[in-house]
Amino acid sequence: MKGKFVCVVCPTSCDVNAEWNETELLSIDHAQCKLAWEFIRGEIFDPRRTVTTSIMVDGGELPLVSVKTRTPVPKAQVLAVMDRLADVMVRAPVDIGEVIVPDVLGTGSDVVATRKVKHKG
Ligand code: SF4
Repeated sequence: MKGKFVCVVCPTSCDVNAEWNETELLSIDHAQCKLAWEFIRGEIFDPRRTVTTSIMVDGGELPLVSVKTRTPVPKAQVLAVMDRLADVMVRAPVDIGEVIVPDVLGTGSDVVATRKVKHKG
């Protein structure tokens, strides 16, 4: 199989052509460095994304806190993770890095707060 990918490992964003079979990446070209290999192999055989969103805060100086998955989750589960987080509410105060949902949907990735929210008033 053949395909085109944009490597997003760094801001250069190389357009890379790749060739692969059922089990392995066979070749790439037009990449400016070796980092594209692992990135494209992941995109073909185990695509993952970091999920970022906001969840509600009860009693906080802000109504929402931004969160993200600590590690990327399978791309096919991104929408399910968003659904899981849609009605989650935490109580203030919230600390940066605080685990909001451990091992979300069994992905092995914790959802953590990416900012601090103090008590209201
Ligand atoms: S191939 Fe290398 S230089 Fe090009 S975007 Fe990927 S990491 Fe950056």
